[in-house]
Amino acid sequence: MDLFEYQGKQYFSKFGIAVSPGGVADTVEEALAVAERVGYPVVVKAQVKVGGRGKAGGVKLADNADEVRLHAGNILGLDIKGHVVRRLWIELSSDIQKEYYASFTLDRPNKTHLGMLSAEGGVEIEEVAVNNPDAIAMLSIDPVRGLDLATARRWVAEANLDDIAREQAAEILVKLYTCYTEGDCDLAEINPLILTMDNKVHALDAKVTLDENASYRHPEWEEFRWSETEDPREQMAKERGLNYIGLDGTVGIIANGAGLAMSTLDVVNQVGGTAANFLDIGGGANADVMAAALEVINADPKVKSIFVNIFGGITRVDEVAKGVLEALKRVDISSPIVLRLDGTNAVEGRAILAPHLSASLITEPTMLDAARRAVSLAN
Ligand code: GDP
Ligand code: MN
Repeated sequence: MDLFEYQGKQYFSKFGIAVSPGGVADTVEEALAVAERVGYPVVVKAQVKVGGRGKAGGVKLADNADEVRLHAGNILGLDIKGHVVRRLWIELSSDIQKEYYASFTLDRPNKTHLGMLSAEGGVEIEEVAVNNPDAIAMLSIDPVRGLDLATARRWVAEANLDDIAREQAAEILVKLYTCYTEGDCDLAEINPLILTMDNKVHALDAKVTLDENASYRHPEWEEFRWSETEDPREQMAKERGLNYIGLDGTVGIIANGAGLAMSTLDVVNQVGGTAANFLDIGGGANADVMAAALEVINADPKVKSIFVNIFGGITRVDEVAKGVLEALKRVDISSPIVLRLDGTNAVEGRAILAPHLSASLITEPTMLDAARRAVSLAN
């Protein structure tokens, strides 16, 4: 799970990493209230889970209320690489002397943690890696031994951070490492880590990815979860434990297996349609799962037809057919359903459905036929 910057900073704070005082705002009025509280000048920052907000016009300095109003108004609703800004983080502006880069992530091939530190921060690290790879000091960290202050001190020297910043930076790195390990992150990145004009080191940005496999020991992550997806359909699917990704088209898709689900999207496209979603119901295509899947797809107002594409392997098609009928009793579906059922017990499955077929429940013998039918019903 990726965190927004303001959540990442909240997380950093728990581990004693200094960040600027600030607050979130969902409207221009709220932005003004936060700015009044923290004091001017402030930075108005778009909260989207994508990097390069600065370049995209999503980070602006404001010296007074008029500038906050202007920038907050411009940034709210802004589209940054496909992410629409719904929330702002307003913080007390820092006077920057230097921008550094620091991160911890997994080095999978080496089975260690990897620390990256650079005196060339502020720009994307990928850029530094290409143009000036020597400017990144890499540190391989044995997860059993961890990172101690002495090692961090050698590391900041190796990375050529300014002398005045080194001791503070070393301490922050140890804390960031603790955040990364005890906080169960896949990535903990500060870019930029700054040296202020009055020689203080602190985190100006936060990029945190939490390791979902560890969520069982972090009940406090719940507070981050509500905002995780902005798409209400995905939210609904998540609540029902479905593997769903919302798309923009008109043909709702239900398939078993990620591969078949992707092929189904391709075939729908191939015959001139557009998929409304990706949805893999996996192996357990029983009535509960089918009802949940139909419910989520039915809630999407763009959907005009539903294509259920099942290839029975371990999943038996007769079970799927029963599941569909049972689900239809529970959910009132507003779009016609086209089924393609093949594989284990397909004949039995089709026989179960036969008496129930109608203009809104249709079977087709092949995936291509079913795609054509679903697309023609949608168009
Ligand atoms: P990103 O572009 O999404 O990585 O957003 P950042 O939070 O890293 O901000 C981008 C850039 O805006 C930083 O590298 C800084 O140069 C600048 N910036 C951010 N906060 C401040 C601030 O408090 N004061 C000043 N002067 N510049 C800032
Ligand atoms: Mn940044």
